[in-house]
Amino acid sequence: MPRAHERTTIINTLPQLPPARLHIGGWIENSHNAEVRDPADTRNIVASAPRATRAQAIEAVQVAVRGSLEWRAVPAIQRGEVIRRASEIIAERAEQLAVAATLEMGKPIAESRGEAARAVEHARYFSTVGREAQGYTANLNEPDAQAFTLRSPIGVVSVITPWNFPIMIPNWKIAPALAHGNSVILKPAEVSPVTATLLVQCYLDAGVPASALSLLIGKSSEIGDVLLTAPEIAGVTFTGSTEVGRKISATAVGLGKRVQAEMGGKNALVIMDDANLDKALEAVMVGGFGTSGQRCTSSSRILVHEAVFEEVQRRLTEAVGQLRVGHGLTAGINAGPLASESALEDVMQGLERAVADGATVVAGGSRAEDSDLANGWFLQPTLLTGPATGAAFSEEIFGPIVSLHSIKDIDEAIRLNNEVEYGLSASIYTSNLEAANRFIFETDTGMVHVNRPTVGAEPHLPFGGSKASAIGPSELGAAHQFFTKTRSAHVRWKF
Ligand code: NAD
Repeated sequence: MPRAHERTTIINTLPQLPPARLHIGGWIENSHNAEVRDPADTRNIVASAPRATRAQAIEAVQVAVRGSLEWRAVPAIQRGEVIRRASEIIAERAEQLAVAATLEMGKPIAESRGEAARAVEHARYFSTVGREAQGYTANLNEPDAQAFTLRSPIGVVSVITPWNFPIMIPNWKIAPALAHGNSVILKPAEVSPVTATLLVQCYLDAGVPASALSLLIGKSSEIGDVLLTAPEIAGVTFTGSTEVGRKISATAVGLGKRVQAEMGGKNALVIMDDANLDKALEAVMVGGFGTSGQRCTSSSRILVHEAVFEEVQRRLTEAVGQLRVGHGLTAGINAGPLASESALEDVMQGLERAVADGATVVAGGSRAEDSDLANGWFLQPTLLTGPATGAAFSEEIFGPIVSLHSIKDIDEAIRLNNEVEYGLSASIYTSNLEAANRFIFETDTGMVHVNRPTVGAEPHLPFGGSKASAIGPSELGAAHQFFTKTRSAHVRWKF
């Protein structure tokens, strides 16, 4: 296996991406265009993207108000048919979506293909919600009368998304929002405008009315405020950092809007002395270094039983050294660049803080500066060991950095898992039933795994966190809680 620092071949001819575009009741040609650069080699301009103005954001809200009325009038089962067609179109265009995602944010193409496949699965799942039971019946304390509950759409929804899953996350918000009869204004991260454009096109081609799905690409400083404060917006669904999520929530909740915010994580994976080490180490490599550590559910803290610590450290150091760093479109690559210059800077600063707080670098630890990689935002996959304190242990450092911490027993594993401010996902590798069950019941994350990686998202299960990782209801299997309003109807049939 080549080592991380060995040369990798950067492809010479990149596929051409279509331009990103705004969609406000129809596709719009915008004159304020920005360059989209390849994070693996910033000399490559891969596409152009518009910058929506504040006036265009206000216009999108007005269009979405019309779209909300038009779309909610379509019977729910027919809306589901449209979402099902969208899932088929996403499947047909999966390769185009995957290439766009890789060129915009850098992840290896195999991961982008996986993301597109998940998007198909999620849209297919939401296509059936119109056929599900909606509520319950109840008695009224009067003759000839009955009550029942129903779920209605909430109205116009702002969808604000990050760049790390540029297909899957916008999709898992758009699909349930539309399936439940809401209209949507999507504002994707600035890093991934083409992927968002292609995804929106899939839904429009499937039959979603032009007024029910708008796409605003641009600077959050210019258009973000409108999406949070316009009186016509009923709800804001956000995925991104805890810092931004809390600000958005304070603004929108203060104006009486619903907010769903899925935010950062500092997820622990526990390896007990009775674990299947092969499986546990595989989970660390997938969960810790997949997407170059840029996942909210990344296994960034590994809590290892002292009896197997040395072996785990030795084997992981070897495995990390064998990761192939390079352009996401190059065959065999398993670690792409970070998504942007600012993402790399943030991660490098986090690493410096971790070392200052007492962490030791046992693998990686610096920029990958091979001549082919020097023009991209690459960091060598990095393994740290150190005390269960400081930045390595408690800060979300959104990059390929995993830290190992020694534990004595299950009590310490549970205590350390719960000690950080975040509460998104956690995992334990053990063959001890009691340890596994204690971990499930005594930890405080929104998602908990036993003998599975910390990552993954099943459409029919709630996806979400607790503590600093989330505000409001969870996503996916719990999406109806955010995208519908439960109402009660009271009916007397003799009057
Ligand atoms: P970010 O918070 O910087 O940005 C997220 C989105 O918010 C972007 O579209 C951005 O343009 C927008 N935004 C920023 N300020 C805004 C404002 N004032 N008004 C309106 N919109 C605004 O996050 P990021 O760097 O794109 O993504 C990385 C973060 O996302 C990490 O913290 C990661 O853990 C988190 N994340 C969480 C989940 C989850 O489900 N919990 C999933 C993926 C990523």
